[in-house]
Amino acid sequence: MEINQPRIRSLMRQASRVEEAGKRAAAEQLYRQILDEAPETEEAWLGLGRMTVDPAAQAEAYERALELNPENKEAKVGLADLRGEPVPEAWRKEVEAARLPEPEPEPVVKKEVVAATATAVAAPTDDHTEAYEFFCYRHPDRGTSLRCYNCHNPICASCTNKTSVGYLCPDCKRDLEDKFFNASATDYIIAALVSLPLSLIAGYLVWRLGGGFFFIFIMIFIGGAVGGLIGRLTKKAIGGRRGRYLPHLVLVMMVVGVVIPGLPILLMALAGSGGALFAFITPAVYLFVAGGSAFYWMK
Ligand SMILES: [Zn+2]
Ligand SMILES: [Zn+2]
Repeated sequence: MEINQPRIRSLMRQASRVEEAGKRAAAEQLYRQILDEAPETEEAWLGLGRMTVDPAAQAEAYERALELNPENKEAKVGLADLRGEPVPEAWRKEVEAARLPEPEPEPVVKKEVVAATATAVAAPTDDHTEAYEFFCYRHPDRGTSLRCYNCHNPICASCTNKTSVGYLCPDCKRDLEDKFFNASATDYIIAALVSLPLSLIAGYLVWRLGGGFFFIFIMIFIGGAVGGLIGRLTKKAIGGRRGRYLPHLVLVMMVVGVVIPGLPILLMALAGSGGALFAFITPAVYLFVAGGSAFYWMK
């Protein structure tokens, strides 16, 4: 049978490496994992038959392999052995011959992977490969004892994302993020259209206040409320959806909202009229406090 999915192919490669290394339990676990996802994988049924120590599971594995391919010699031999039935010696030889010369199909790819990642990878993961039970499913040449808590795939140190519940592989991380970030492109446009006018009004008022100590002081308190309001109104306008860069977008709008009404003063300062420095303190404090608050609400 053709193994089409790249992931299953990679898991199969990994399983046969682990099997060759003589780690039966780990190999069995990998074959079972493959079969959970792709029960039509004839090779994985054979692998399970070779690796499991439970005769019932062994028999079932060979039977499943035979269902997929009634001509499968290895499954026939395995079943006959289990049942104590005689097997033609030629079959046994054929099975052994098929299993022995395992050609390494990817020395070139392997070299590329190693070359591309050699600098990024911490040395210890490469050095003691034999000591590990599994191989990273994204880097089959890296031994590891870490597994993703979500999909249970083995992952090397450079592929892990540490979370509060355990290590997460990059694929699962992306999946979870995709579920988490549900905003569409339209939401980004709406967010910009809502937050920009609000930011312009707030920015205009901030410049009107001027740079008195009282207003700087006040800004520390009301800045958070103003930013929170902009953030919450924007969030409401997009139905509460989340976007990876929505907080940044609103922050940019708030900066624009301060810069545009302040342009005359900014230009004067650039022209060297001086004395304007004090006028920048209130808007700066506003942006710092309100921007932080809006960013928080947009998350
Ligand atoms: Zn995962
Ligand atoms: Zn890896």
